[in-house]
Amino acid sequence: MSFDTLGLSADLLRAVGEQGYTDPTPIQSKSIPVVLEGRDVMASAQTGTGKTAAFTLPLLHKLAGEGTGKRVRALILVPTRELASQVQDNLDAYGRYVGLRSAVIFGGVNINPQITKLSRGVDILIATPGRLMDHMQRRTVDLSKLEVLILDEADRMLDMGFLPAIERIVKALPIARQTLLFSATFSQEITALAQRFLRDPVRVETAAPNSAVELIAQKAIQVDQAKKQKLLSWMIGNEDWKQVLVFTRTKHGANKLARQLEADGLTAAAIHGNKSQGARTKALNEFKSHKVRILVATDIAARGLDIDQLPHVVNFEIPNVAEDYIHRIGRTGRAGREGLAVSLVCGAEHGLFSDIRKLVKAPIPTEVIEGYEPTEPLSRTAGKMQARGGGVRQGGRSGGGQSQGRSSGGQGRSGQGSRQGGGRSDAPRSASSGRSGGSRSGGGSRSGNRSGDSSGNSYSSSNGNRSGNSNSNGNSNGNSNGNSNGNSRSNEGQRSSSSGSSRSFGRKVA
Ligand code: AMP
Repeated sequence: MSFDTLGLSADLLRAVGEQGYTDPTPIQSKSIPVVLEGRDVMASAQTGTGKTAAFTLPLLHKLAGEGTGKRVRALILVPTRELASQVQDNLDAYGRYVGLRSAVIFGGVNINPQITKLSRGVDILIATPGRLMDHMQRRTVDLSKLEVLILDEADRMLDMGFLPAIERIVKALPIARQTLLFSATFSQEITALAQRFLRDPVRVETAAPNSAVELIAQKAIQVDQAKKQKLLSWMIGNEDWKQVLVFTRTKHGANKLARQLEADGLTAAAIHGNKSQGARTKALNEFKSHKVRILVATDIAARGLDIDQLPHVVNFEIPNVAEDYIHRIGRTGRAGREGLAVSLVCGAEHGLFSDIRKLVKAPIPTEVIEGYEPTEPLSRTAGKMQARGGGVRQGGRSGGGQSQGRSSGGQGRSGQGSRQGGGRSDAPRSASSGRSGGSRSGGGSRSGNRSGDSSGNSYSSSNGNRSGNSNSNGNSNGNSNGNSNGNSRSNEGQRSSSSGSSRSFGRKVA
């Protein structure tokens, strides 16, 4: 199918052509005609699938030609500043011959230039919920004539605790409007949200919900927490990775890791919510222009990053919320390119990674690297109990904010809201994640004697030879898919036999 058949104007087709796009992606060919018809849409679209153009192109088409006014005609709500900027870039690129005015507003920067811009008149407003609420309270934005509402990455907005803000924003909008909801995953909460805010939506699905982007090769390496950094430096150097996005759970962890990588002679920068917008933009630009080889990021900071040809994503720590894994690895393999996502899984993260395997529904081969053989016992404790560090510690720090009702004792989503939200002016804090999970997270370290993980192939050591040769020549990627399912005992079995004590695990998670 070509773009010409979708019903878009010549101005838009010209701009799309200049972007070098030849054919619409599946989400674009399915969504664009329905949006042009005026229907509400509920689309499951993973990051990197071209979803931004799937809503910006028909939006520009609809709004063009009706002249510009003082009031906002379309609102695009996004979870993070980076995604807001990303959407703005897309709008600028596709709308260059259309002549509509757009503005982007998010927290963490001076509000006054935003007020000035809004007062001059804006057709399309891209906003994070927190800052938009600020403007609504100050009456510096007029949404009374809104025609189109777009909720982008709705799952992430809910994860970040933005539901109350979204509810208040939507209440202030005209009922007669078109609403589009895009989400990488479709939880019950998202479906409930859609039922409340959308009218008879057309459901657009391009890939099985929760399935990882197909082009991404995934593998896990089992390694002790304390050895992860050295292993990472070794892999990057030995396998000559040129551009690597590394995820940590905490802002502190991101800073620390960037410093350690630098000490190993690699160029690295950290990007997270405590950094000023200027520092984040600078780090991102340096990474994009290859001045810096490694970008270490927390989940929220990395959300929305669109870096062409990003070949490697490393999960230095496994996310507390399994869905985050999909968002993280979606950073690579974008727009049809291949990528490799490597997860470094320590014993305490075994339960979390099992959750991810179940969600992803694809085999993720596991390796053990010679010289980095794990010694920690494997925890079978599920992610919700585990909350190693991140959610719990930071949850405490962010106390005093509002509780979002979703925060159940150190568990996944609440931990995330508080973890990542701390210090961001536009992210509500979730206070009640509390400390309940942290002090005892080592409890599950007796992983028992069951061999074999729920997914069957996980943690089976590479043929008993611990993948020695494949890695010593720096060629582990090529082999990783083939040999992980070998004949050998599962590591889980091995670990459990050596797991007499949970002390080492307990020490690590404290
Ligand atoms: P998104 O999922 O919107 O973040 O888009 C991911 C990447 O795909 C961005 O770099 C877009 O510029 C690119 N892209 C969007 N649509 C197309 C297309 N039809 N053909 C090729 N690349 C595209």
